[in-house]
Amino acid sequence: MTAAVPDFEPAYGLVDPPDAEDGHALVFPFIGQKLLIGPGATLPRQPLPRSLGQPLRAFRFGILGGRDCVMRVWPTDIAIPSEYTIGDYRSLWGQWPPGQLAAFARARQLAAWVLHNRFCGACGQAMEPARAETACECPACGHKAYPRISPVAIGVILKGDEILLARSPHFVPGMYSALAGFVEAGESAEDCLRREIREEAGIDIHNIRYFGSQSWPYPHSLMLGFTADYLGGNLVAQEAEIEDLGWFRFDSLPVLPHGGSLARRMIDAVCKTLAEKTRRP
Ligand SMILES: [Zn+2]
Repeated sequence: MTAAVPDFEPAYGLVDPPDAEDGHALVFPFIGQKLLIGPGATLPRQPLPRSLGQPLRAFRFGILGGRDCVMRVWPTDIAIPSEYTIGDYRSLWGQWPPGQLAAFARARQLAAWVLHNRFCGACGQAMEPARAETACECPACGHKAYPRISPVAIGVILKGDEILLARSPHFVPGMYSALAGFVEAGESAEDCLRREIREEAGIDIHNIRYFGSQSWPYPHSLMLGFTADYLGGNLVAQEAEIEDLGWFRFDSLPVLPHGGSLARRMIDAVCKTLAEKTRRP
């Protein structure tokens, strides 16, 4: 099952004025959706360079190990100060503790939300940050925009002592993972999984069981993990999205995704169960 993230609690509160400093807070500065980090992948210390100017928005977005986490977001046309580099979420796996990564995942999604809601989608007026909730508010027509979360159904499919794995053309060489796809408007997560597996692998599934979920900030997904059993049909890879797929025995697996991913946790759990089954007399 999905473990709770240690140390990090989401929260929300405006920083007013946006450039107000708080020496105890952990600051996550974003230019667009790019997090600025210092040498050794550390979060920048305050004060931040004056060359950045006034941020578009600044707000508290959570508490990490008892400290407030504050994010500041600048528009994409601001130059990156020379003392910083861009922190990539996936490359920080293994370098940052899970709580700090969870904070980054939330902050990155909120940076996208700020940037994509500068103006009202209903009337075009400049949006303002709400005080009491995580929302952008239109002062002219009252329209509110909340952070978008896009559910994705991801499934490990079992057939005897084998599991279905596939590779997309953008994976690193040799890596295979579970199949996944975005939930369509009006669709349940289970129906999405049935449809995706039929579209991408050509087979039907049944006995869909919920496993757990994971926030995934590319750019605002929520992965909903399931296991399911093969029902019928022959494997046919969808040409546009799947480079290769196949049934893999639990003890003969290809290169798999990172251990922090929901896909990997599901694959490991399923294969552990299959291994235990075969050991039983
Ligand atoms: Zn409006």
